[in-house]
Amino acid sequence: MVEQFDVTVIGAGPGGYTAAIRAAQVGLKTAIIERDKDLGGTCLLRGCIPTKEYLHSAELANTMKHASEFGIEISDFKLNFLNVYQRKNKIVSQLSKGVEFLMKKNRITVFKGTGRLEGKGKLSVVGADGTAQSIETKNIIIATGSATRLLPGLEIKVPRVVTSDELLELQQVPKSLVVLGAGAVGVEFASVFNHFGSEVTVIEMLPRIVPIEDEEVSKELNRVFKKRKINVLPNTRFQSVQVNENDVEVTYLEGDREGKITCETLLVATGRRPVTDGLSVENTKIEMERGYIRVDEFMRTAEPNVYAIGDVIPTPWLAHVAAKEGCVAAEHIAGKNPHPINYLHVPNCTYCFPEIGSVGLTEAQAKEQGYDVKVGRFPFSALGKAKIIGETDGFVKIVAEAKYDEILGVHIIGPHATDLLAEACVAVGLEATAEALGTIMHAHPTLSESVMEAAEDVHQMAINF
Ligand code: FAD
Repeated sequence: MVEQFDVTVIGAGPGGYTAAIRAAQVGLKTAIIERDKDLGGTCLLRGCIPTKEYLHSAELANTMKHASEFGIEISDFKLNFLNVYQRKNKIVSQLSKGVEFLMKKNRITVFKGTGRLEGKGKLSVVGADGTAQSIETKNIIIATGSATRLLPGLEIKVPRVVTSDELLELQQVPKSLVVLGAGAVGVEFASVFNHFGSEVTVIEMLPRIVPIEDEEVSKELNRVFKKRKINVLPNTRFQSVQVNENDVEVTYLEGDREGKITCETLLVATGRRPVTDGLSVENTKIEMERGYIRVDEFMRTAEPNVYAIGDVIPTPWLAHVAAKEGCVAAEHIAGKNPHPINYLHVPNCTYCFPEIGSVGLTEAQAKEQGYDVKVGRFPFSALGKAKIIGETDGFVKIVAEAKYDEILGVHIIGPHATDLLAEACVAVGLEATAEALGTIMHAHPTLSESVMEAAEDVHQMAINF
């Protein structure tokens, strides 16, 4: 007998499994299809979680290296990277089992295999052994995510030429690493392997690293990377590679000048691609946009009762965006009239050293949009708590507009920037004024005082700077 559902989700990443849980919570009979052997998607298996485990171990290694600055003498410590790798795998496996548990808890039927659209209200699932199964479903949520992408002329050759997927499977720290691309993934791996002891070079085609961030944030990261001996090559175009048995020779163009660099491993972190292969979207009314599925504010595609969410649609590639989109889709299917997502309020986090957290408009974007802009800044070097923990690089920058004093954007680079950002998201989301944020009492001594001081600095009223 063909199984029947109210909603079937294709893909069990953070978008898909969240959508499935929300659908079940609002009383819909729900199924989810996943072709990977484990649940959790890119985020849990090959993205957010494993990279942050590496970042944590790397930060710990760096703290141990500088322990004497805190009055602690450690005579002998060494990195056991195999243990770091195994710990990462253990955490990933535990969390993936957690997602399986959540599926059971919410009575969501899990199908293992590749999902395919088979006409109105119909899907097929083809398992790894080739057996096919049919499903009837009133609604479909496509949450098939994204996958790594190589530049033309490059091929994966482990351990010489890798993407983030393969780099996370290496069991040794490369002595030297060249990172192509200085977006979030590129600078995170550059930070990790720098702390693990690799010689790291970052090649970026654009004039600055973390190019979507505020220009001052890029400059500060560039300064800190140089201080930490990470070689940064902006305005540099990758040309070709020569893969040898023990190394890789990378040729690049820096302006008109050709340069070469030899490394043990080349990481290609120049972007990802939406995954729609095998879904059979071409046989539907679904509209595409540069390979992504086009949706409206409720995540509906042009095909009735088919929704799409997460990395497969042209919105920011972030797990929390995918998850919120999943909730919107599920609630809309249930007739709950959800609020559309305001993409201007998406928290952008980059977990490099030092971390970056930003929300809203950069100073340049605010000016482009015609605002009369006022800026407040506060450096971590002036903050007691930052001195105590020995992390004084970076600053908080608040972009506000002059007429109503509304906060348009907050840009943080420094210790725990990704956690500090939550307050900024609330302020921007509630259309707070800089004055109001500066008036709210913040505990002392905490890193969060930097946000209050930056807000006060919008009116040149910061106390400690
Ligand atoms: P995915 O997580 O890609 O999941 C899609 C799932 O669909 C996959 O499991 C796939 O196997 C399955 N699938 C595809 N096609 C089919 C099919 N036809 N049938 C059945 N199953 C199918 N984001 C953050 O917010 N914070 C971070 O710190 C962060 N770090 C990252 C680090 C790295 C190295 C990378 C690569 C990404 C990182 N991201 C981070 C981005 C984040 O991982 C993605 O935005 C998020 O995973 C997108 O979720 P999704 O559910 O849309 O898709």
